[in-house]
Amino acid sequence: MIKSFEEIHELIKKDEMSIEELKNVLDKMVSKGNIGWRERDGINYYRIIPLVVGLDESKVYDLSLEYLKLLFEYMIESRFPLKLVTSKVPQLRTIPVEQSITPQHYIKNYDKLKSLIENMEGPFVVLDCICKKTAALGGNKCKMTSRLETCFVFGDIAKTWLKRGLGRQISKAETLELLQKGEEEGLILQSSNSQKPEFICCCCRCCCGILSMQKLIPNPIKFWRSNYYAEIDTELCEGCKTCVERCQVDAIMIKKSKNIAKVNFNRCIGCGNCVTTGPTHAIRLVKKKDEILPPKDYIELYEEIMRSENK
Ligand code: SF4
Ligand code: SF4
Ligand code: SF4
Repeated sequence: MIKSFEEIHELIKKDEMSIEELKNVLDKMVSKGNIGWRERDGINYYRIIPLVVGLDESKVYDLSLEYLKLLFEYMIESRFPLKLVTSKVPQLRTIPVEQSITPQHYIKNYDKLKSLIENMEGPFVVLDCICKKTAALGGNKCKMTSRLETCFVFGDIAKTWLKRGLGRQISKAETLELLQKGEEEGLILQSSNSQKPEFICCCCRCCCGILSMQKLIPNPIKFWRSNYYAEIDTELCEGCKTCVERCQVDAIMIKKSKNIAKVNFNRCIGCGNCVTTGPTHAIRLVKKKDEILPPKDYIELYEEIMRSENK
């Protein structure tokens, strides 16, 4: 899946393309955001990237109505969005708001924003969010934040953006600060589904293509990686609806007969957004009995996705 320049040259008909020509083609594709790239010990490696999250996001600084029209036509024709949100191995996982987790639960590093960022290898780059930009082009501004820079990339993928001359390089401390700001605004932190994520997005119900699609299926949690769920203490709940408004995926409702909140466990993605704002501390995040260990890194993740799709 990830191949060195020399390995790719071995694969093509060498008499049809010289090493120099191949290098130019691959570098042009990287600069357009059409393929992934990384460098190790002076050797260049290239990889195919998915349409979402990948190719589409790479167009964020070059968005046009014409591109969006073509993309939507393809999406409808191929039923890609449905395939994406019902993938057996999801590309994304939720990072829960840390203070929403009951202290007795041991939190793994990949579920803990602060440790995740502290242990992350740089560089750190913040990008404009393509979903918020797309919504704005259609005349719909994000209702949760006025910031456009809500997508964060790290390590190899950040180096690729810097190589393209796009995005804004920031420090580790600023990355954490901006992500925590996203949590305060009620955005859901979604990372790539691996122990060493290559990106973290701050997503909202109004603009995020993936969250909007998830809302259309009855049991999104079946296709979502999260190790937590929200639990309500019915004795403490006052039926104020703060949690209902705060939840981005319609996972809480008020039971009219009793005027207390009820969680739909088929929908709750364990983000913890509802926990931190309630007036009576009636909600807590509970760890699932069977914790799912995410793949080690993006290479393992995409190998798992491809294996599961080919079964
Ligand atoms: S997935 Fe979320 S943060 Fe990422 S581009 Fe979409 S809305 Fe923006
Ligand atoms: S925020 Fe708390 S008190 Fe208000 S409805 Fe939700 S659980 Fe009940
Ligand atoms: S109920 Fe909604 S806001 Fe609360 S943890 Fe679940 S998904 Fe998040």
